[in-house]
Amino acid sequence: MQQPYPWQQTAWQAQQQRIAAGRLPHALLLCGPAGLGKLDFAHLLARSLLCEQPVPLPAASAHGGGDQEPLRGATAIAGLPCGSCRGCQLLDAGTHPDFQAVQPEEEGKEITIGQIRELLTWQTLTPQYGRARIVIIEPADRMNANAANALLKTLEEPGRDALLLLVSARPAALLPTIRSRCQLLPFVAQWGTEAQAWLSERLGDAAQAELALAISGGTPLRALTLVETGGMERRERLFADFAAMLDGSRDPVALAAQWLELPVQDTLATLHGWCVDMARLQAGAADGRLDNPDLRQRLQALCERVDLAQLLHRQAQLQEAMRLARGHPNVQLLLEELLLGWSGMGGTAARRAAPTR
Ligand SMILES: [Zn+2]
Repeated sequence: MQQPYPWQQTAWQAQQQRIAAGRLPHALLLCGPAGLGKLDFAHLLARSLLCEQPVPLPAASAHGGGDQEPLRGATAIAGLPCGSCRGCQLLDAGTHPDFQAVQPEEEGKEITIGQIRELLTWQTLTPQYGRARIVIIEPADRMNANAANALLKTLEEPGRDALLLLVSARPAALLPTIRSRCQLLPFVAQWGTEAQAWLSERLGDAAQAELALAISGGTPLRALTLVETGGMERRERLFADFAAMLDGSRDPVALAAQWLELPVQDTLATLHGWCVDMARLQAGAADGRLDNPDLRQRLQALCERVDLAQLLHRQAQLQEAMRLARGHPNVQLLLEELLLGWSGMGGTAARRAAPTR
């Protein structure tokens, strides 16, 4: 049976209690870093509402007793989706008439007003089988301005049985008026034993799980992908290249061309992580927690070439590059500019006076 991830249990119980009490809001914004399973949680919540025979939760959380919560009519049923009823089967087939998921039509594109308008009409209809008409919009921050404005209407006057689940790793990019009309459901980085144990079980290696979780900023699903797609080895090569460039033994422009073959957001995020750790080391947190604990000594060595102000500047630049890289027409140029900036910081490379644009 589908379950929330171990680190989502508290959030899950809280939503289930709201469902049982008939107090679920019309719009929820699930926000937080990528890799925490927000979208899976949204789908599971939708399933639990559209399942016709949800499996009741143990009642321990509410009253501490072994008895189940009294159910108050159809709207009070809460639990995990059974996986076999008509509702669950229709959801599995992608044909449930009371459920829609909205995403950009192509990778990297925006969610358009056309997509949102279709929803608006659909969502006011009475649910056919389920208890609600449920929409998941993901990533919600990819709605363009027109789409977001159109959605505001439905947030102001939600249908009686409508539930809107917005999912975003960049909630700050949403219209403030949209954010304020949604109930926030924040997902935060996971460093605890639940995430460690979950990852360790999948990787079969506790030490690797701990390192991958640290590198991924406490996001277990990203950590898993990182390991499974060769990300650890990629990162090792990236670091060797990066250190060589700071040494002046790798040409930044040639490196930019080479890095173009890699997933650019990952590369930028990795560089950003090193930059943050170097700033931590520079600031004197020599024994403190790092996102890249395995690179501590090598990062410390690189630190000798840069000061804290430069590192903070590079961090800001990398964040901007991550934003720009989405849909940037010339990612190679973006990488070149970044690397030329970095290479200008270190020893011999500084004397080459790399041009800036
Ligand atoms: Zn079911």
